[in-house]
Amino acid sequence: MFDKILIANRGEIACRIIRTARQMGIRTVAVYSDADADALHVALADEAYHIGPAPARESYLRPELILDVARQSGAQAIHPGYGFLSENADFAEACDGAGLVFIGPPAGAIRAMGSKSAAKRIMEEAGVPLVPGYHGEDQDPGMLQDSADRIGYPVLIKATAGGGGKGMRVVRDSASFGALLAAARREALSGFGDERVLLEKYLTRPRHMEIQVFADFHGNALHLFERDCSIQRRHQKVLEEAPAPGMDGELRSRMGAAAVAAARAIGYVGAGTVEFLLDEDGSFYFMEMNTRLQVEHPVTEMITGQDLVRWQLGVASGETLPCGQDQLAIDGHAIEARIYAEDPARDFLPSTGTLTHLRTPPESAHVRIDTGVRQGDSVSINYDPMIAKLIVWDATRDGALRRLRAALAEYQVVGVTTNVEFLAAVAAHPAFAAGDFDTGFIERHSTALFPETEPAPARTVALAALYVLLRRSAEAESAAAASSDRWSPWHQTTGWQLNCDNHHVLTLQDGETAVCVTAHYRPEGYLLELPDCRMLVSGRLDNDGDLLADLGGMRITASIVWHGNDLTVISHGSSHRLTLHDPLADAGEQEVAGGRLTAPMPGKIVALLVTPGTAVERGTPLVIMEAMKMEHTISAPRDGVVAEIHFAVGAVVNEGTELLSFAADGETV
Ligand code: ADP
Repeated sequence: MFDKILIANRGEIACRIIRTARQMGIRTVAVYSDADADALHVALADEAYHIGPAPARESYLRPELILDVARQSGAQAIHPGYGFLSENADFAEACDGAGLVFIGPPAGAIRAMGSKSAAKRIMEEAGVPLVPGYHGEDQDPGMLQDSADRIGYPVLIKATAGGGGKGMRVVRDSASFGALLAAARREALSGFGDERVLLEKYLTRPRHMEIQVFADFHGNALHLFERDCSIQRRHQKVLEEAPAPGMDGELRSRMGAAAVAAARAIGYVGAGTVEFLLDEDGSFYFMEMNTRLQVEHPVTEMITGQDLVRWQLGVASGETLPCGQDQLAIDGHAIEARIYAEDPARDFLPSTGTLTHLRTPPESAHVRIDTGVRQGDSVSINYDPMIAKLIVWDATRDGALRRLRAALAEYQVVGVTTNVEFLAAVAAHPAFAAGDFDTGFIERHSTALFPETEPAPARTVALAALYVLLRRSAEAESAAAASSDRWSPWHQTTGWQLNCDNHHVLTLQDGETAVCVTAHYRPEGYLLELPDCRMLVSGRLDNDGDLLADLGGMRITASIVWHGNDLTVISHGSSHRLTLHDPLADAGEQEVAGGRLTAPMPGKIVALLVTPGTAVERGTPLVIMEAMKMEHTISAPRDGVVAEIHFAVGAVVNEGTELLSFAADGETV
């Protein structure tokens, strides 16, 4: 076994690997970019080395820098985590060449599976079933169009070198094939430096099933059952579970055997995942093999009681697998929810910012949190916007779901928009609870999962107002205590005002609406006059800063985060942001007449779909931006005419930058 390993990654997976290494007495070496100097993985590792600027291609993706650090630090092996260099066969070879162990499969196995098309050809020969489609070398657009017509619509275009849902487009009819092929190629080229694509019949209600496999250098190979990863947005996983609901023993062994056969066919060693699509009629098709540890590996760990990173380290150092297939069994049910900085209401657009407040449910035998961030850290444009993985376990699926709902209700993040409430809506959906879902679940149930933004309920406004009043009163008291004239009426905290009734007016902005709250001081608290009701409220702040409130006799605890003028009220798993109206800061900041379209996040302009003077309808795509390696389409907010476009293709813009101006219907350009 190794004494010291280098982890060529960041974030939660680097922290996850460090945790197991530490338990095994292995010393760890971290690497970090400028953006990660104070990151958690750096703090947890025994040693950490700076490798370059924030963009990954200038730091985490540079093999030579990582190998230098390995040599300098005396690490014997490199764990690549997932993403970054984990599926880079040249890097695996370079490790070998430098006398270092690459903790992953042999370069040949990575190459065999690196191209989705080549992988399909190998699997075809090994007798593993494939989705009908085209995965040949000829990439002529006319020929691809003919193939798609032959396969029959809907057809899925995939980047041969793809991953993470990038470069993937569903084509519904022959007429839109050309444009979608161009978009898929553009995204594939920018994401993977390779614009080749393959075509597949698009299955309309499949489930994403994957089998965790493991093999050692001594000819042993086995599987650790399946994971169901069907709950996806933009073809990317958000909730994963093991075992798969409704999976029977017979299908499990057939899929398991196919996965092990796939691993054997390419001389696999280490941890890998064979992904399948399971069709409604029970047939399953090979999709691809990921030659690394997966993001969702914890659900497998929770139901098998195994530590897969420990297995990886054992296999890489030449040990045999720690057990045989017969010794593995499924115990209970585990679900993982990926907590992302993203806005479900804006097509899951990644969100960036500082985590000004972060509080998580307590960890236990039932709740595990794999994360790479702490309160105060930033989610930047440079890396994946995942904040954490929340994993729950219980003896039954029902029990696990209940724990998931409870844990999500306790997950508090302020500073970036997150998908926590969206995940909670999925976890609470009856069809999900019944195990009745496929990869189209989110789209099909969008009305229930993306509720209209509701105005803040009176209770939320009352909590925010009470919090402000209590904080101001506490501040006034400490000011009075520090003053030479403690009894001056100017230090009174009872709302005393010269010639005035003892009340105070607060204005809280809730989205577009300004909500006025008049607070009358009473010996027992405050009488609040809200737009639709009156409420006698009182409360105090506890040591954690939480508000223990009594709202007209109802006791409630809430966490309230006050940052700038923003008050985020978090209670019972829902979070609502209100802005405290500050008369001094009230000038300006009004939307100009007509319309402006600003960049929703920092990124690069990759295509302009309109020219000045173009008349468009609400929802017409105008500009395509690339941010966080994904394309985002900016569409017309209403019917109108494009007035001016301020940037050319290739320009890099900051969040909030005006991209084009737009005149609503009826206005002159
Ligand atoms: P990536 O490697 O980019 O993540 P995958 O090939 O793993 O892409 O596919 C991602 C997801 O896209 C799958 O989990 C599934 O939901 C969907 N998908 C892929 N191929 C098909 C298909 N032929 N029909 C229907 N859905 C598909």
